[in-house]
This record gives sequence, structure tokens and C-alpha cells, in this order.
Amino acid sequence: MSEILVVGSVALDTIHTPGGSVADALGGSASYFALSAALYVPVRVVAVVGDDFSEEHRDVLASRSVDLAGLQIASGKTFRWEGIYGSDMNERTTVSTELNVFETFHPVLPESYRQAGAVFLANIDPLLQEEVLDQLSSPWLVVLDTMNYWIAHRRAELLRVLRRVNLFLINEGEARQLTGADSILRAAEGIRMMGPSTVVIKRGEYGALARTERGWFSLPAYPVETLKDPTGAGDSFAGGMIGHIAEKGTVDEASIRRGMAHGTAVASYAVEEFGVGGLLEIREGALRARVRSLSEMTRFDPD
Ligand code: AMP
Repeated sequence: MSEILVVGSVALDTIHTPGGSVADALGGSASYFALSAALYVPVRVVAVVGDDFSEEHRDVLASRSVDLAGLQIASGKTFRWEGIYGSDMNERTTVSTELNVFETFHPVLPESYRQAGAVFLANIDPLLQEEVLDQLSSPWLVVLDTMNYWIAHRRAELLRVLRRVNLFLINEGEARQLTGADSILRAAEGIRMMGPSTVVIKRGEYGALARTERGWFSLPAYPVETLKDPTGAGDSFAGGMIGHIAEKGTVDEASIRRGMAHGTAVASYAVEEFGVGGLLEIREGALRARVRSLSEMTRFDPD
């Protein structure tokens, strides 16, 4: 078993869906990831919040045994993001992104974090992802996520950090944006040439597709009855997947495939409530049952 270090955003999110809105809810890529991966292994967060970040939000993370020694508190405002979903919940429009305290943030890893075996470079400025990597002694697993904002604004830095990554998670549209390829198969192959040996393409309600060293693997999303808020689904998928791989302590074809099933199951809880609410309701037995039923759903006899 290996602990996971995560660097990413800890945010106050304002989210609008056809079913309702929330303002200043606990969010951010590191929050969703940490609450998900902590179901499997201890998680340590490297991020920054402002002095407006409430005790209650901090307690939510701490209550799930997320180690917050690397969470800096800076004077100023916490990172804020606002997004809106239309009737097609696969489509989201970013209304605003305010970097705030992230504009001047530089991660300084506590000594106890530097030996981390597994690291998740969640969606944040690639320059910060790189600074974290530079402070680690020799991680056996480096996983990266990103989004359109960074592909557009920090492309060179992103390509540099990608060369140091084993496993890359990216959503479908962003894989096309990064490579210029129309087909997602070509996009995944193109990304492998940039560094990572395994690429997982997240496809929202259509599931996820992986190109590993061995070939292709694909899983549907776990079908949920009520889809309330897709925000954080990608980071929760990553948390379940990397959490499982870190718990196993090895990244191979079997742990990647099973990890994707865990990621799929965890993400299905995330979308059932607004913000991180769905993740807080996960019970181990029910989660394992969703992983088993995914295995049932995708099994078939070819003859
Ligand atoms: P996901 O739905 O998995 O893509 O993640 C949504 C989360 O990403 C939200 O909680 C946002 O706070 C966070 N987020 C949005 N834009 C950015 C950005 N440019 N950098 C870092 N985090 C972001």
C-alpha cells in the first residue's frame, strides 16, 4: 500500500444545473480527489486557500482523514470557479475562474511528504505540478490531469510535465484539443508519444477508455437514476482509480482495469448530489457492490 500525495485546487465553487444552484460550495480538483482516494489509502494535500476558507470546509476534508499539513492558508481570496450546465449535463460552460491565492502560490512540501510513492497532479497550473514533482525523491507512480484552460494557456509547460508522467487522465474534448486529432483513438496514441505509457480518456456519461501498454480497455459509466451535478466526476474517478492502484501498490494491466471500475463507481456517487455531498455518503459495502455490478454488466460470452 502506498500513500498518495495530491496537488490541485481547493476551491469555492458556484454551480448551476437545471435542477438548482449552489454558491461557494467546497470544491476543487484536490478536494474531490482527496475525498475519493481517502476511501482507499491515506491522502496528503498540497494546495492553498485564502483566509475566507471556512472551518467547516476544512473539517469536511479532515473528517475523512485527509492530511492537510501541506494546505497553506494565504491572505486573500480562495480560488473560485463558477460553472453552468444546460439540459445536456455532458456540456458545461465555465462562467468564471478566479485564481486568487493560486496566482502567487508555490508549493513547499513538508519533509514528511517528499518520500511519497504515488502522486496525483490534479488539475492546476502545470508550473505548480512541475514544482511538486521536483520536490519528490522517487515516486513509482506519477498521474496527471489537466483541462482546456491549461492546454490553452500553458501548453509548453504542460508538454514538459507530461514527459515525466506514467498515467494521464484527460477528457475526450481536451484530448482532441491537445493533439489536434479527430479520433479519440488517434488522440490517445498521440498523447502516448508525449510521455505517459497509459492514457485514460474520460467520456462523461459514456464511460472511460484506456490505452495501456497492452492495448485498449473500455468501461461504461455506472448508470445512476438521478444525475444532479457532474462537477468533480473526473477528479472522483481519478480518486477511485488511483486509490485502488495505490492500495494494491502496483500499476499493471489488472490494477489499471480494476482501478477504472473503482473510479467509475466512486464517480457515480459524486454526480448523485451537489458538490462533494455524494462522496460523503459512500459506504464501503455499497461501493464494492457497484464495482461488482459493473463487472457483471460488462461480462459476456463471445460465442
Ligand atoms: P471536474 O468536473 O472533475 O473537471 O472538476 C471540477 C472542479 O475543477 C471544480 O471543483 C473546480 O473548482 C475545479 N476547477 C475548475 N477550473 C479549474 C482550473 N482552471 N484549475 C484548477 N481547478 C479548476
